[in-house]
Amino acid sequence: MTPEERDRWKGAVGKGWETELVMPFLEALAAYPDVKIGGIKEKFGGLRISAYSSEGWVEKLIESLEEVSWHVCEGCGKRNGWGYPPDFETTTVRTSTNGWQTTVCQRCATPEMRFDVLSDAQQTGV
Ligand SMILES: [Zn+2]
Repeated sequence: MTPEERDRWKGAVGKGWETELVMPFLEALAAYPDVKIGGIKEKFGGLRISAYSSEGWVEKLIESLEEVSWHVCEGCGKRNGWGYPPDFETTTVRTSTNGWQTTVCQRCATPEMRFDVLSDAQQTGV
């Protein structure tokens, strides 16, 4: 992946996910020019990445990033879990009044977002 290809995906998701998840992933792909990214977006509150690659580890890495995204604020990158005590800034899934789900910490949530903590099963759709 060239720096130009990498930069194409800047702004595809919020700054928090971009800094913590997407850019490190794309930088890791710099040594693998045959890996092509088909899409990077937020869907139902989680990170979604589609890639074309013959490397099996790429798909595994994407699965891990998508799982981790449920616990990382899309706005600022603050992480929930991993030893952080639950407090004002921890990551929570909120649902806005129009039904969109987003994963943000309480500091990044906007006033019109309805506080609505979902269970892990609801978050991941299993
Ligand atoms: Zn945040």
